[in-house]
Amino acid sequence: MNKKFFLGNLQFKVMLLFVAIALAPLGVMGAFALKTAEELIINMVRNQIEHVAVDKATLLERWISERKADLEVIAGSSILGSMDRQQIMPFLELVRDRYKVYSEAIVVSQEGNIVYASSPKTSDPRMKEWFKDSLAGKPYMSDIGFDPEQKESFFWISTPVSDGSGAVKGTVCAKVGTNVILSMVLRLSLGETGECYLVNREGTFLAHKDPKRILTENIAQSESFKNIFSAGEPRITYIDYRGIEVLGASARVGGTGWSLVVEQDKDEAFGGAARLKAYIFLVAGLSAGGALFLAWLLSHYVVNPIRRLSLAADFLARGEFDRANIKLNRADEIGVLYDAFGDMARKLQDRQQKLEQRVVLKESELEETGVKLKESQQAAVRSQQLASLGRLASGVAHEIRTPLTSLKLFLESVESEIAISADYEEDFQVAMNQIKRMEATINRFLDFARPQDPIFSLIEVRELIEESLLVIGPKARKQETIIQKSISSALPKIKGDRKQLAEALLNVLVNALEAVAKGGKLSIAADLAELPTAAGLRTCIRIDIGDTGPGIMEENVPRLFDPFFTTKATGAGLGLSIVRSTIQRHGGEVMVQSIAGEGTTFSLLIPLDAEPMLGEDGKNTDS
Ligand code: ADP
Repeated sequence: MNKKFFLGNLQFKVMLLFVAIALAPLGVMGAFALKTAEELIINMVRNQIEHVAVDKATLLERWISERKADLEVIAGSSILGSMDRQQIMPFLELVRDRYKVYSEAIVVSQEGNIVYASSPKTSDPRMKEWFKDSLAGKPYMSDIGFDPEQKESFFWISTPVSDGSGAVKGTVCAKVGTNVILSMVLRLSLGETGECYLVNREGTFLAHKDPKRILTENIAQSESFKNIFSAGEPRITYIDYRGIEVLGASARVGGTGWSLVVEQDKDEAFGGAARLKAYIFLVAGLSAGGALFLAWLLSHYVVNPIRRLSLAADFLARGEFDRANIKLNRADEIGVLYDAFGDMARKLQDRQQKLEQRVVLKESELEETGVKLKESQQAAVRSQQLASLGRLASGVAHEIRTPLTSLKLFLESVESEIAISADYEEDFQVAMNQIKRMEATINRFLDFARPQDPIFSLIEVRELIEESLLVIGPKARKQETIIQKSISSALPKIKGDRKQLAEALLNVLVNALEAVAKGGKLSIAADLAELPTAAGLRTCIRIDIGDTGPGIMEENVPRLFDPFFTTKATGAGLGLSIVRSTIQRHGGEVMVQSIAGEGTTFSLLIPLDAEPMLGEDGKNTDS
């Protein structure tokens, strides 16, 4: 997937827009919150540690001041001013016992004589600094020392002893044990890594939770030292004497050269800030993930239906209506778009189907027209052939009729003028009959070729049928053919040429009789019927002549009415052709139905109000 794909992709654009809208303010707010919270926590932690350092230093300072004040009160008492060992000893022992912090006490006279010493090991005080300072009227305080036996840090303080008039009588000096106060000072509730210690100006530990370090280790080389004693603004975090990065603060203990340092490992000190940061990042990550998921969901909700619609449009363009049929059950604008698309697809499909149906219809009409055209062309060719054949045949018939008539006349004259012997009588009659038969055939042919003018009269169809049946009666009886007759009682008369119609009916009846074998059946029925014509339906009389003969072979049916078509050895093939031309001249039609092996039915349909049809020359078909 390349860059162009992403930029051209609607889903990607929608997602990008949504993420930008959703995450940009969130990102700005998150960054601001993170920065502010981090600063707040750092300040808070820093203030806290600074306060702790100042509080502890103040506590220590106050305690030292109290000790100095105590000693000044003792030094100002009349008991010490008496410089009487007997009085001083119980007094000071009482004081030591009461205060618990003075591990030793010494009272020295102005001359340097020890008046009272709580420890027997006390050496000559005259060379000691505290003695000199005190006699000079200055209160004295020593540096801190460490007593490994007592496991206690200590320092000395001394102050001059004066009598009631204010004259200096000597000095009192006390060793102050610091366990009580330092245990309070060093005890910290600053996480697990918070610690507090005391250093002098050189950086040597004066108090530490680990007694081994006291007066033995020095922090002068560490960043802690620089931070405590440098002139500039102290750093918040630095590497301490252990080599660990810490957050630290220090405070001077007033009246001493000591500094109190409070430190806490940076990781722990800023743990809260780090946790807050992690929470903020987690929340930001979850929000971003959520926003992305929502963006994807939204874009999917919007873009996916559009993609489907575009695919469906492709299918529609290809005419695949089934695949273009898509549905979306939504009430929003996209749902409305789908409904409109579905509606359009359905209308297109309907139109397409209608067009296809029309094409099919046109095709079948075209095919039908083609078939009809072919049939008409064939019919035209056949009628042309028949016409030329007819012209040739009638020419031949005319040519034959003249000599035949001469021959007949000659034979008749021979018969009347010459007596024919009995031996030749039969031959003569055969010759005569053959000549007559030839003459009859020629006449029939000429009648067909040039039919007689029909002479129209009103005809009773029942009479026509009965007369025809009378003619074929003897032959039917001879071959035992049963004739069934069914003539409607209310048949009206028809207009027509009686002689021609009778001849036509007889022709069909004779054919039927010839078709049925011995014992077969012949039926004749007449009733009113409707004949469909170009001008509409015409009422006619329908005469059905049925037989139980062998039927007509299917391939012969189209040629039945052609002149000279015959399947009989002695047939002329003119009968049906004359029948049709006669019925058509009466405005009617001949139909045939035949089932091979079952029989044939010829139907003659003759309109009631038939008019004589005119021939091509404007006269009746005969001239
Ligand atoms: P012809 O009788 O001289 O043969 P037609 O024109 O009357 O001439 O008949 C033509 C042909 O039609 C017949 O040769 C015969 O094959 C067939 N035909 C006519 N009527 C029938 C019928 N009822 N049953 C079977 N075939 C028939």
